[in-house]
Amino acid sequence: MSFQAARHVSSLLLPQQSSEDLVAQGLAAREARRRTVVRNWLAARATNLIWMLMLSAIMMPITISLLLLSTLFTAKICDAFSGNDAAGVIGGFLFGHFDDPCNQPIGALQVIFWVFLAIKMILFYIWSKCQDVAECDCENSRICGFLRQAGLYIILPPTVAFELVWPVATFCCLVMSSTSTCSAQLRSTAWMLLSPYFLQIGLVIFSCLWPWLKPILYRTGLLKDPANRVRDFTRVNFSAEAFNDSDGGYPTNCPICLADFAAGDQIVVTPCTGQKHVFHRPCLANWFRSQQTCPLCRTALGDSLPETLNP
Ligand SMILES: [Zn+2]
Ligand SMILES: [Zn+2]
Repeated sequence: MSFQAARHVSSLLLPQQSSEDLVAQGLAAREARRRTVVRNWLAARATNLIWMLMLSAIMMPITISLLLLSTLFTAKICDAFSGNDAAGVIGGFLFGHFDDPCNQPIGALQVIFWVFLAIKMILFYIWSKCQDVAECDCENSRICGFLRQAGLYIILPPTVAFELVWPVATFCCLVMSSTSTCSAQLRSTAWMLLSPYFLQIGLVIFSCLWPWLKPILYRTGLLKDPANRVRDFTRVNFSAEAFNDSDGGYPTNCPICLADFAAGDQIVVTPCTGQKHVFHRPCLANWFRSQQTCPLCRTALGDSLPETLNP
């Protein structure tokens, strides 16, 4: 669901512009294809980035809420057996030091954190309900359409912004806070709230290394290589008559590497409805390792192939 939402947002930022439209505007066919492929490549990168931001903005509040709830629940159970008040001590530690003295607004940042966390959880709950409604019948319901858009425009941007700004602001305040004027409990609570974000930094580093790790996993067979799908696409033999950039013919060059097609090239056509989108097979295989869409029209080709192509 979130990946589709990310794809939707990136399509709004970089609307699809087909090479046919660009040709109709007077651009040469080769240049039109080049521009479309670059645009779609950028849109795919934007989708991945937005998806990662959304995922972390959703995962962080959920992780923190679950950690807190499970800690309090465990403490309550222990209290029931021991007769102590561990849950009260934890509650006091988390919520009892907001107005402790400090030269930095760490207490205020913690209040903002908890208020925002509560708002986010309620909004995400409402939005998930709206998604259910939207899947049923969104075409005829303006309210449901509005709620779906509201989820994307009103809830997500401030949530993502908060997830980026709050940890940085809190970290800076903690570093600048003086141990002599700030209460130890206030500082420890802030460090505790900040700790899940260090995990997030680890995830960001991992996602940066991921493009280099993926080929190793493909080679060892631990991960299914999406490039294999290209083998199922229909092959086309080159002929100067068919590859002529005309309306009914194939394009003269590969839109990915821009080289002219020639006899002996391995050429495949993607199963985009009613289109003649052809590429060098190795070029398309490389493209598929980062995104499973047609480089020219963004048709999703990764999850399921049209029935005629399935064995
Ligand atoms: Zn090529
Ligand atoms: Zn296509």
